[in-house]
Amino acid sequence: MNPVTNFFDMNQHAMREFFTRMEEKPYRADQIMKWIYHQGITDFDKMTDISKDLRQHLAEQTTFSIPTPVSRQTSRDGTRKWLLRIDELNCIETVFIPEKDRGTLCISSQAGCPLNCSFCSTGKQGFNRNLSVSEIIGQLWLANLELGSFQQRQRLITNVVMMGMGEPLLNFDNVVMAMELMKHDLGFNLSQKRVTLSTAGIVPGIDRLAETTRVSLAVSLHAANDDTRNKLVPINRRYPLSELMAACQRYTKRRDNDTITFEYVMLDGINDSERDARQLVNILSTVPAKVNLIPFNPFPGSQYKCSSKQTIDQFRDILMQHGVITITRKTRGDDIDAACGQLVGQVIARARRLQQGHAFQQQ
Ligand code: SAH
Repeated sequence: MNPVTNFFDMNQHAMREFFTRMEEKPYRADQIMKWIYHQGITDFDKMTDISKDLRQHLAEQTTFSIPTPVSRQTSRDGTRKWLLRIDELNCIETVFIPEKDRGTLCISSQAGCPLNCSFCSTGKQGFNRNLSVSEIIGQLWLANLELGSFQQRQRLITNVVMMGMGEPLLNFDNVVMAMELMKHDLGFNLSQKRVTLSTAGIVPGIDRLAETTRVSLAVSLHAANDDTRNKLVPINRRYPLSELMAACQRYTKRRDNDTITFEYVMLDGINDSERDARQLVNILSTVPAKVNLIPFNPFPGSQYKCSSKQTIDQFRDILMQHGVITITRKTRGDDIDAACGQLVGQVIARARRLQQGHAFQQQ
């Protein structure tokens, strides 16, 4: 069977090529993109500026395929979370965080995560696979549909953060293509400042990102010395702080001194001392930086406690006194396990899945 063409896996260029191969006008791509991303319509019958014959042909040859919602939850603070099925084995999570002046969608880039940071529940599940472009952009499309943005012609999702499940820089090509669709004027038309990629510090990925596209960059730092960071973010053994900060410097140079946001999860007695704060000021002195302090969100089996409010405030004050702009992130959606680091979806880790497959064959 021929693989069916999925329009959600294509950017404008790929769609234009697709139509050219069909001996159709390339601007058909623009028409389709507007139907999908501006009107929220994927029903060929409604695409009235395309001839009936062509619509019929497209209906046979193509699809608009995205993840399917399995459950929807709403927090008492208005945060919404979707559990989305991507295949028989795996589900991912997407979170919408409404605020007074904006609405942020937190999107997943992988089913599970291979990095296994010790304070993050996603990593505890293991890793299954990278998400396709349609599975990434589909989260934004679906959230817009479910929130009623297309129908109301109102932009409820003003910002996107690649801060859900997974490490986006380990799924580089698909994440970049999805972010391009978010920014494209025939796509979601979001400004580059409002699309943020967050990484645990994949150094070659940061360099590649600087050369490839323009979005906001966030780096999950969590510690300002290698001893502590090795324990919290094991990828630090491969890309230690000196290399990570050098990559950040190269990145901002290339990006006209764009500020990088550094995320720092506050863990009681682990990384929250006055000394830690001073070390942080020190390593950030080499790049235009702002800091997001994230109160630790516990999950079943987690070995850490969140720092006290007083400690977090003191930590923030030290950074601020040294001229580092620092914001403490509000915890949102924790009653529905939608807060940072609480997204688990339903992931069958690859290793486990293989074992299961093996057992099955033996039966
Ligand atoms: N892999 C990427 C994207 C995930 S972003 C990255 O590491 O940046 C998710 C953010 O939430 C990261 O800053 C992560 O470090 C943070 N986080 C993970 N677990 C958390 C927890 N239990 N409490 C608070 N923040 C957490």
